[in-house]
Amino acid sequence: MTAETDVIIIGAGSSGLSAAKELTRLGHTITVIEGSHRIGGRAYSEEISPGVWFDLGCSYLHQGEINPFVPIADELGVVLGKDQADLFEIDKITLRRNGYPLNSEEIARHNRYKAGCNATIMAAAERGEDVAIANLVDLESEFAIPYTGGMASLNAQDIDQISTIDFASSGNGSNIPVLNGYGNLIAAWGADVPVSLNTRVERIDWSGSGVIVETPNGTIKGSTVLSTVSNGVLASGDILFSPTLPDWKTQTINNLPTGTMNKICVHFDADVFGEDGRGFCNTWNDDGNAAGIEASVMGLNTAVVFIGGRHAIWLEKQGQQAGHGFAVDRIADVFGSDIRKHVTRSIVTAWTSEPWTRGSYSSAQPGHGHQRVELARPIDERLFFAGEATIVGHQATCHGAYLSGIRAAQEIATTLA
Ligand SMILES: Cc1cc2nc3c(=O)[nH]c(=O)nc-3n(C[C@H](O)[C@H](O)[C@H](O)COP(=O)(O)OP(=O)(O)OC[C@H]3O[C@@H](n4cnc5c(N)ncnc54)[C@H](O)[C@@H]3O)c2cc1C
Repeated sequence: MTAETDVIIIGAGSSGLSAAKELTRLGHTITVIEGSHRIGGRAYSEEISPGVWFDLGCSYLHQGEINPFVPIADELGVVLGKDQADLFEIDKITLRRNGYPLNSEEIARHNRYKAGCNATIMAAAERGEDVAIANLVDLESEFAIPYTGGMASLNAQDIDQISTIDFASSGNGSNIPVLNGYGNLIAAWGADVPVSLNTRVERIDWSGSGVIVETPNGTIKGSTVLSTVSNGVLASGDILFSPTLPDWKTQTINNLPTGTMNKICVHFDADVFGEDGRGFCNTWNDDGNAAGIEASVMGLNTAVVFIGGRHAIWLEKQGQQAGHGFAVDRIADVFGSDIRKHVTRSIVTAWTSEPWTRGSYSSAQPGHGHQRVELARPIDERLFFAGEATIVGHQATCHGAYLSGIRAAQEIATTLA
């Protein structure tokens, strides 16, 4: 493979695909290189049972009111669960401790604690106090276990590793599920972008004028390069830069690690939830086991169990069977042991050991809440950066990745002009 092009785009996830479309629209030549065998990156759906899809990565269209994939889905005829978009609202989430539902007084205490934690974090961020969330909240509370578990799933890091400023800068809004998979939606939307699959970038040479990108399949020359790979991949050194990246960029990459959030989807041969069981549940036991469960929100015979942070890394290391067992136990905590008779199979994600991402999504370290802007900053008008870690207000999301690709494409077009 030898090519000359305006922009070499590395990665065909949401950000690489949106950048490719935007640069093409602006009249530039592009070459999109993807290391894996498919497009979509962290947007990826698998069929757990005929016609029943599970998203191993993104599954909700967050910030549904402004999410660009909502109109795209509508145009493609993709079925969205717009009537379920409030599933994470505090009074919609059910709560179970040691297998029992909380009574109304306990629910009120729990919700006050959670709202109090949030208000404390927001106030600290407003004062410019960039510290670990763990330093601010009451960890002696009777509700600390579900709170820390929930935060680890949301942020892919434990609360001693999350910056108040970064956390406070994430956007709000509705969360729309997709019946047949967010990953399938991205694959359909990105299908018209020409991509060289199975082409792993090994080295980016920016020592001369322009850039030279080396892959096992050949070398590509371009005026500029746009990296959309995760910070986990950048930090691992899988891609060599010559000369090496400046220190400020390397520090930024390290200050925004790609944390771990894993999901386990369990499929059943019958509706074990019933109409009342559908929705999102936070369940925990006093032994410390906490998890979020999304049960059949779109009416399917599946439940998805969410865990994040160190617990998720530990469970991932135990292997698929341990992940399956953990998920079935948590679902049984909520819906009773009889569900075990109806389990058909599960899919257990392992994002930490996934070589193309080396983690789930980014979260800034305490003291480094403003690093996303630095991460997005180009180097020498030749090396550009996009992806979920490079955007503020929509970080760690699929539509945030999309928006970052558009932003980078426009910066590149201005530079090339
Ligand atoms: C478990 C989980 C749940 C999530 N839930 C949600 C959700 O509900 N809603 C939401 O909006 N977001 C969610 N996200 C986040 C969302 O999926 C990501 O933010 C988004 O998909 C990232 O897109 P990207 O383009 O930045 O990166 P990626 O999708 O990672 O794309 C980068 C691409 O680069 C490729 N690549 C890597 N190394 C190389 C190399 N050396 N050479 C060539 N190519 C390479 C990769 O294969 C990949 O395809 C979730 C993520 C995970 C993991």
